[in-house]
Amino acid sequence: MVKDGTIQSVQPFGDYCGSLSSVRDLGNGAIVPGLINTHTHLEFSDLEQPLGEPGIRFTDWIRLIVKCRNDSHSNVLGTKRSAIQKGLTETISSGVAAVGEIATLPFDIDDYASDRELKQLLFLEQLGSDEKTFLEKRHELDGFLDSPQTLDTNCARHASAHAPYSCHPDLVDQICNQAFSLNRVVAMHLAETREERELLENQTGEFVQLLKDFGVWNPSAFQSRSVLSILNKLSVGRSLVIHGNYLKQHELDFISQQKERMTVVYCPRTHQFFDHEDYPLGQMLERNIRVALGTDSRASNPDLNLFQEMKTISSLFPDLSTTQILQMGTLNGAVAIGLDKQLGTLTPNKSAALSFVAGPPGETHVNDWLFYPSANSSRVH
Ligand SMILES: [Zn+2]
Repeated sequence: MVKDGTIQSVQPFGDYCGSLSSVRDLGNGAIVPGLINTHTHLEFSDLEQPLGEPGIRFTDWIRLIVKCRNDSHSNVLGTKRSAIQKGLTETISSGVAAVGEIATLPFDIDDYASDRELKQLLFLEQLGSDEKTFLEKRHELDGFLDSPQTLDTNCARHASAHAPYSCHPDLVDQICNQAFSLNRVVAMHLAETREERELLENQTGEFVQLLKDFGVWNPSAFQSRSVLSILNKLSVGRSLVIHGNYLKQHELDFISQQKERMTVVYCPRTHQFFDHEDYPLGQMLERNIRVALGTDSRASNPDLNLFQEMKTISSLFPDLSTTQILQMGTLNGAVAIGLDKQLGTLTPNKSAALSFVAGPPGETHVNDWLFYPSANSSRVH
């Protein structure tokens, strides 16, 4: 039962004693908690298809992303606004109740806040290798985080250090210090590719040429630096380790020890797009690491449908239960971004941001059909 946007009770229909006129029959199917898309970049939501062919080298894809930004988005607020709005609409229509968005300047907060059916967690993305710019970046992030957490909108403000190859370690420190002192979440792409590991471990590989081509190669930024040293910084507060495709055993052990604060975000179809090695999901779950899900952007995924990510996991990892997969797409994401008091489960007093998955006629056991190829989810309005 739902009243004023809040779940009152969850019970079999046979136990309901109220008026039938207030019953809404959604048909055969399953009501599930509103899904949580923990990681996306909405500024690319107007792309018709991912950039490059599946299996593209990651550094080549980065070149395409930078070109795409320069060609279409840079400082053009109107273009960016329309992509963000398109992405928000697509996100909601796939049954999502909260989204973790990597926001890049410039943008107008009203581009997001105007949408009220969706909790929007904005992670202001920063990157840089030149120490001279860090003071300016500190003011930029302070200005963003210090703005009041507007109660009249669904937006909350957090921080993102883009990735090890684009962020000097001192900048990562600065971002973590600023965000964690205000109890905000930090998101960072980490251990995404083999080449990123090579850069950190040996200061060699294709990232070196990429950074030289962009005029930002600073070898001192990669000496005495490791994935573990970055995880250490992120573990000081609540953080999202985005991707983690190439995390090693001892790094997974570390995250497992810090699982109160740290969450790994798996983006299944983006992982497939780059033709990475098998995702270490089993090793994460063995260690009770909290794994949440993201679509990433339309630059590496054909759409922003989080339910499709859950179906992809179901087909890639057939030993996982429906409950485990559902939890990754709902409660784990809600805990990761601090919204588990409002979202993530069908529990009295939580928000009635519900989604519905239509089921095949006659089927009753949800485990048998929830992630079938034809299944899809939508928000209950
Ligand atoms: Zn991303």
